[in-house]
Amino acid sequence: MISSKRISFVITIFFICAAAVILRLGYLQLFQHNAMTEKADSQQIKTMNLSQNSRGRILDRNGATITNHEETPSLMIFPSLVDDADSTASSLADILIMDQDSIYRKIEGFGDEETMIRYLPFVAKSNLTTEEVSAIQSLNEPGLFIVGQVGRYQSGLPAIHLLGELGTVTENDLLSGKAESGLHEGDLVGLSGIERIYDSVLRGQGGETLGVVVDDRNRPVYDDEYYVISTEEVSSGSVTLTLDLEIQQAVESALDGMNGAAVILDSQTGDVLAMASSPKYDPNHVEPLISDDAYINKALSAYPPASLFKIFLSAIALENGIMQRESIGYCDGVYHLENGQEVHCWEEDGHGFMIFEEALSLSCNPVFINVGKKLGIDRIKDAFETWGLDEDTLIGYPLEHRSEIQTAGTTEGDIANLSLGESGVTMTPLNLAKMINVIASGGFLMEPRLVMEVDPGDGEPPRSYAQSYPVRVIQSSTAAEVKVMMQKTFQTGTGKSLNLQSLDLAGKTGTSETGNVWIGGFFPSEEPRYTIVILVEDGSSGVGDGGPVLKKICAYLNSLIVESNDSL
Ligand SMILES: [Zn+2]
Repeated sequence: MISSKRISFVITIFFICAAAVILRLGYLQLFQHNAMTEKADSQQIKTMNLSQNSRGRILDRNGATITNHEETPSLMIFPSLVDDADSTASSLADILIMDQDSIYRKIEGFGDEETMIRYLPFVAKSNLTTEEVSAIQSLNEPGLFIVGQVGRYQSGLPAIHLLGELGTVTENDLLSGKAESGLHEGDLVGLSGIERIYDSVLRGQGGETLGVVVDDRNRPVYDDEYYVISTEEVSSGSVTLTLDLEIQQAVESALDGMNGAAVILDSQTGDVLAMASSPKYDPNHVEPLISDDAYINKALSAYPPASLFKIFLSAIALENGIMQRESIGYCDGVYHLENGQEVHCWEEDGHGFMIFEEALSLSCNPVFINVGKKLGIDRIKDAFETWGLDEDTLIGYPLEHRSEIQTAGTTEGDIANLSLGESGVTMTPLNLAKMINVIASGGFLMEPRLVMEVDPGDGEPPRSYAQSYPVRVIQSSTAAEVKVMMQKTFQTGTGKSLNLQSLDLAGKTGTSETGNVWIGGFFPSEEPRYTIVILVEDGSSGVGDGGPVLKKICAYLNSLIVESNDSL
């Protein structure tokens, strides 16, 4: 049914003309009947907007459209024009391989006495094949129309967690005041994401509206009479995102089949080039869901950052002079807390003596517990705020606050857990990308941006969303030192086995006790272009579970770098 499925569709000009002619719409008759309809309070007009294609587009940074891609034929049924619901349902069930009873019920409104839109036309099936179209046409049954329908979301559903979804305004929405003024029953509105935030800009106005006069039980008063109201169509606006559709699709493909998220920032500007969460969901087919959390955008959900937090600790330890690159650290495989508890290093036999420059790439736990203790909770919290990590921000896209240091850090154990990113701190993959980008950018905090421009479409100038002004939070020399430490991860450290030495990658792996694995970094490390954070849930090691995703993403991004170098 139109109301229950979030159908976004377009009726072609062809259809509007055809509807006007074929249905013998009582345009004039309607007005003749006006006096009559006014007599009966119980009568009302049911309408349905036929101009959903006027909804504005959502574009990527290069102007490629992320919405409204393919126009395909759909079958629309006008229930009250159907002569024999039983035989029509039977024929359609055969052609469309659908359940005959459900088609019949939709046409007849059987057992649906209270349904408000029972007699309104509905889309029986979208995306028809050529064979289905010719079979339906050869039926020559009244009440069946083939119309062009543009799906709001393109195949593969790129960026669906950011775009959000649409819903249809119901009579209840209008009665309860839930719907904004100016909306009509049957209008499409954004329910979440970009669709909701920029609904007033994206919503098309005017155009063709189909109506039917019904009684208080939603039965048409004048049998088969529909009418079309034509009003001037007000063109809708558009929203241009910072996403690069091709990078977005490559990242989603790399994450396919996994539970997790990935974020790619432009290292120089903080623009979000890709943000993916897996699994995805299809707003047009609410059930069955692949998993319960398919609706969640994991890139904006908070998790313990595990060893990625050591990047931040390294930077503030160097910046504050707590550690130097040459400082000697020692690990015998276990750290003994004063209360007698032990915290093990992932390297059971211990790393032995090492200089601090190596400790990050080896991800040595005892060394970083010492670093955390020397820094102290106040300095860690202060830097967390200075780096903007206690704020979840995304320009053009309001976020809930999720990233924070929760621990008061009063015990040695608290500091140990915080230093290892295991507990006492949660961060979103997006916020971790912002953190790593401080190193990639040479020491600057840049708020990530998702929306570049919103064009209201009414002739007024577009509204631009500026990139954030870079704020220096650490010295460039500190950032350079941490970069060297991160480069070692893929040369001699925990990421060595991935054999990504040729990519000039700087990064860090992480595995939390809760089973989330992380890889974060940037490349090319000498002139960073892409800052990357990958989260895979239910993994056992950053290299084992995040590594294959990283390899796919980097292979694609590297091809872009090679391409752009060739064109110089
Ligand atoms: Zn160690």
